[in-house]
Amino acid sequence: MTKSIAVLSGDGIGPEVMQEALKVLDKLEKITGVTVERTFADVGGIAIDNHGKALPESTVATCEASDAILFGSVGGPQWEKLPGPEQPERGALLPLRKHFNLYANLRPAIVFRGLAGASPLKAEIIGDELNVLVVRELTGGLYFGKKERQTDWASDTMVYTRMEIERIAHIAFQAARMRGKKLCSIDKANVLTSMVFWREVVTEVSQQYPDVSLSHMYVDNAAMQLVRNPRQFDVILAENMFGDILSDEASMIAGSLGMLPSASLAGAPEPGKGAFGLFEPSGGSAPDIAGQGIANPIAQILSLGLLFQYGFGMPEVYGRVHNAVQQVLTRGFRTRDIQTEGTTLVDTARMGELITSAL
Ligand code: NAD
Repeated sequence: MTKSIAVLSGDGIGPEVMQEALKVLDKLEKITGVTVERTFADVGGIAIDNHGKALPESTVATCEASDAILFGSVGGPQWEKLPGPEQPERGALLPLRKHFNLYANLRPAIVFRGLAGASPLKAEIIGDELNVLVVRELTGGLYFGKKERQTDWASDTMVYTRMEIERIAHIAFQAARMRGKKLCSIDKANVLTSMVFWREVVTEVSQQYPDVSLSHMYVDNAAMQLVRNPRQFDVILAENMFGDILSDEASMIAGSLGMLPSASLAGAPEPGKGAFGLFEPSGGSAPDIAGQGIANPIAQILSLGLLFQYGFGMPEVYGRVHNAVQQVLTRGFRTRDIQTEGTTLVDTARMGELITSAL
């Protein structure tokens, strides 16, 4: 089988961690027998320098011709003086999401075994390991509803159509089916009419997934439960704004941003085929540590794992990558951001090599 991906490394630590993910990709090609053709394109600050804009048409064309986008990160102090919409992040990521209708954002918050010390929560709350997946609706709700501004008042509108709720619910149920078979849908149905509708539609969709247990939770309670007892969750489903807030909260539980991958999908992944999507670390371009060879490549490597899982419909490959990362951490190797007493400090390239050989 041959697949093609657009490789958009971007700025700061993006190219450094991407290099390690590509080492892992070479190995995965051998293991899976899938040939993955790579086309490199500029995005973010480097694209502004080389082409005059953060998302050149040529980069969009490269993405359109590919089965998936592997994205690094964009941004840096040298582009911060540009007007907001022209800056690397707003000028590249938002238009990419819009252009490809990436309506589902999946962000796992993972605490690997042995890394509970990196979490700001007490070790007994984290337990042996933690793996919560936040599925966030990315193109509807309060952020995209009608906005009005007058001298003495302003308003935003939360609108969800049945179609928008159904399609994100299907993605969340299917993800839960491949994991712990538990889905918690977040709403504020006690106050918001749009959220009463959300709850009704999610409940309707649940009838197609009798093997997944569905529960509902108000968003304020969910914010509290995530720090009180995060292990009660498997998959969390939330509308755009609630998901924005809860996924950031969940990612902090994991400790370092350098560990967390994400996927943004344009459809429900079909078995063996996947769905078009953009796969990237949850963190940014980390200009404070760029160019020093000390960035943690694990988020980028796990993003590649998610690309196989959701982009190519090969969930078993994500499992292999996850296990290789766990093995390297269990042997005590750490990059600086997750280093604790008694562990062995390694740089970005060495971490990439260790994970590749563990595979
Ligand atoms: P950041 O995520 O880049 O960095 C926050 C902190 O986390 C820093 O201390 C950084 O060193 C650390 N960190 C992040 N990734 C790491 C890794 N892989 N290994 C080790 N440490 C890591 O967020 P920021 O400082 O707020 O933003 C920096 C730039 O990144 C800005 O220009 C911002 O616009 C951009 N940004 C881009 C994206 C994206 O490309 N998706 C997302 C967020 C921020």
